[in-house]
Amino acid sequence: MTQQITHSELDAAVKKSPRKWVYLFSEGNATMRELLGGKGAGVAEMTNAGLPVPPGFTITTEACNAYYDAGKHFPEGMWDQALAALKIVEQQTGKHFGQKDNPLLVSVRSGAKFSMPGMMDTVLNLGINDETVQGLVALTGDERFAYDAYRRFIQMFSKIVLDTDPKDFEHVLDQYKERAGVKSDAEISAADLKKLVVEFKQIAERQSGEPFPTDVYQQLQKAIEAVFSSWNNKRAIDYRNFNKISHSLGTAVNVQSMVFGNMGEDSGTGVAFTRDPGTGEKQLYGEYLLNAQGEDVVAGIRTPSKISRLQDDLPHVYQQFQEIAHRLEQHYRDMQDLEFTVEKGRLYMLQTRSGKRSAQAGIKVLVDMVNEGLISEQEAVKRADTTQVYQLLLPRFDEAKKKQAEKEGRLLAKGLNASPGAATGKAVFDADRAEELGKAGTPVVLIRPETSPDDVHGMLVAKGILTARGGATSHAAVVARGLGLPCVAGCEGIRVNEAEHLFRVVDSDFVLREGDDISIDGATGEVFAGIIETVDPDFEKEVELKQLLNWADQYRRLGVWANADYPRDARRAVTFGAQGIGLCRTEHMFMEQERLPIVQKMILAKTQQERQAALDQLLPFQREDFKGIFVEVTRLETQGGHEQELKEKREMLEAVGSMREMNPMLGLRGCRLGLLFPEINVMQTRAILEAARELAREGKKLQPKIMIPLVGHVNELKEVRRQLEAVAKEITAEGVAVDYKFGTMIELPRAALTAGEISPVADFFSFGTNDLTQTTFGFSRDDAEGKFLLKYVDGLTEPGIEGKVKILPVNPFQTLDRDGVGQLVRMAAENGRKANAHLELGICGEHGGDPDSIEFFHMVGLDYVSCSPFRVPVARLAAAQAALTTSERDK
Ligand code: PEP
Ligand code: MG
Repeated sequence: MTQQITHSELDAAVKKSPRKWVYLFSEGNATMRELLGGKGAGVAEMTNAGLPVPPGFTITTEACNAYYDAGKHFPEGMWDQALAALKIVEQQTGKHFGQKDNPLLVSVRSGAKFSMPGMMDTVLNLGINDETVQGLVALTGDERFAYDAYRRFIQMFSKIVLDTDPKDFEHVLDQYKERAGVKSDAEISAADLKKLVVEFKQIAERQSGEPFPTDVYQQLQKAIEAVFSSWNNKRAIDYRNFNKISHSLGTAVNVQSMVFGNMGEDSGTGVAFTRDPGTGEKQLYGEYLLNAQGEDVVAGIRTPSKISRLQDDLPHVYQQFQEIAHRLEQHYRDMQDLEFTVEKGRLYMLQTRSGKRSAQAGIKVLVDMVNEGLISEQEAVKRADTTQVYQLLLPRFDEAKKKQAEKEGRLLAKGLNASPGAATGKAVFDADRAEELGKAGTPVVLIRPETSPDDVHGMLVAKGILTARGGATSHAAVVARGLGLPCVAGCEGIRVNEAEHLFRVVDSDFVLREGDDISIDGATGEVFAGIIETVDPDFEKEVELKQLLNWADQYRRLGVWANADYPRDARRAVTFGAQGIGLCRTEHMFMEQERLPIVQKMILAKTQQERQAALDQLLPFQREDFKGIFVEVTRLETQGGHEQELKEKREMLEAVGSMREMNPMLGLRGCRLGLLFPEINVMQTRAILEAARELAREGKKLQPKIMIPLVGHVNELKEVRRQLEAVAKEITAEGVAVDYKFGTMIELPRAALTAGEISPVADFFSFGTNDLTQTTFGFSRDDAEGKFLLKYVDGLTEPGIEGKVKILPVNPFQTLDRDGVGQLVRMAAENGRKANAHLELGICGEHGGDPDSIEFFHMVGLDYVSCSPFRVPVARLAAAQAALTTSERDK
């Protein structure tokens, strides 16, 4: 367009208003997402980059919010600004809104800051009426096209703006097709379309109780209102709740001159990603339809063609589109999701936004972009999504198959997503049976009311765990995460009947029995009847992920260690890049099948001799376990890893009837047990040091770290230290001296408060944030989530109060409560170090694998985090992100 476009009218309208509500595409840019929405900012950026974008303007998200504030009235000056902007669009296109010759038609689309695909409303072909349709006929010489646009407009406007039932229109459309003996909409004749337009208007009038608006300005005004209103439709609200998008952002409205993809075989419309969003492969990925408008692609009436075929259909357009796609990717330095329309051989870009992608694609795209020189390694590390990294390593369900199962009514219940991943197998209701079947090669899902250490042997062979009770740090959840097993915990929608080996679904009369197939999704908490197919990843083959994590390792300060109770956990941790073992729960070692009876004998022993006899039997088992773990640790060292840590900890008492306590979590556990029965500590220390000594003889140098759990008073630690040093002396006297370190878990508020007294007795502290959270809040880590805690997070419904009352922002067992528990950690770290400058500081609670908590541990200056093996890659990445972003913030 050579004509001089003046903005003076728009400027004048803005001057008269309290605020600028309307921006021409040429006035915006990519940084204005908050104000213009993602779509508005995207088209503005493309316009200014000189790409072919049909002219238009954006009404701001502020206008939307002001509209609501004013009781659903346009804010002062907004409409005048919109009219002035429309005039400019008329000049830019040479077309005229509402006029018979050369009429301008527009689309009116929503566009919020964060994309909410399909959640809000859009009206196309607006500006058409009995008069302008004539202009359209004259202009295009295509009566069929013009009336098709008209009937589409009535249909869409009625549905979106007048809120009529779309089925009535579809029904009439079907009747016309049937009468004419044709199958597709595209085959309906111009004469029939004309009749349809009349009939459609009558339907609209009948349903809405008012004449269909012929005034194009009225059409525009109502469409803008409808888009504003769609911000608060149920779909949109649910979507925002699910994705944690704020309800106060508002949507922008984009008014854009129409281009037509339905003007013949040299026209079309489509959507494409600049890279494959499933695999990340660098190739255009998408589809298009010739001679169609946008909604036809989505509606699935005709099957669209793969984007690569456009090369044959419209070679020039394809080449131009490829160039633009490349340019946009270079410009945004990210994979883009594009919408385009071709009108009579001319390409127009309608949208660009960052494309949503699978976990696999997410990582591959970042690594490829570094290799292409598009982004730096640091940026790739910062942008990588920790959730996607985690997902990549877990078996996953085929999404389509899951949807199918849901459709078939096989979704039984939903519990807590305690440990992600997909598991399928035969339902089994006790650990022994699970072990028997599992060892024989049958895939099983272990279902329990809740698990206890007695169930571990069954859990070890199960593909997944389902419990009806228990939270994110319940036994089932912690052990499952450690093993990388999918787990749905606290599934209150089922009632487990152990005696009958079945569960009933609370909301239906469905019964699932032992041996029935079941599938659980630990990432979503869903429980399905029957088998759903899964896909299994292999870390060694995840070349891009390994590359990304190697980059991350250069930037992080925190060490990343693993919690591993069995040699196989340690092996996995090494594969995932752990630098040491930060927690080995020795009581979990007790739980292997052949040891359990001996352990029970030990605990129930009436005399010291009896106990000693049982302990003597256990010693070789534990020594072998430690050896197994140490072997992995020495492998770490030869691979250049950091130091390793070993420790021992709390007791398993749940299995011991005669010692049952009202509050076992506050009872005879942790260091208390070893203080009352010193032989247990002696045996375990022996097992650790003898294992180290045997390996030392093989030339493998180790420094085990012995960690004492649940210390609340320095005297407890002093006494345990005395016991251990006595054993160490004996071992030294037997020949080889073993170098070891001695430390404690800080997991009780009293220990944190008196850290300055405790640290001179310890070489290291490791924060046990599971118990520290439990005891600081006074929330039972086994029961709170199922009973009330998740409701605290989700929000409570209170009579007389609209919406939900949120008590806690997040589950404190998953993400560290910085203001409470975090302050104890910070204080203990500071005071501990003050009293012992060499004190090493780590964390081994479940928070060690949570990105938000890792950032906090970085900030308070801990030396390392220790987490379950499957979270090691996540922790490596999160630690690097913490280092990169917090140092940026400090600048
Ligand atoms: C803790 O309490 O954070 C911890 C690591 O110990 P456990 O989970 O074994 O009680
Ligand atoms: Mg603990």
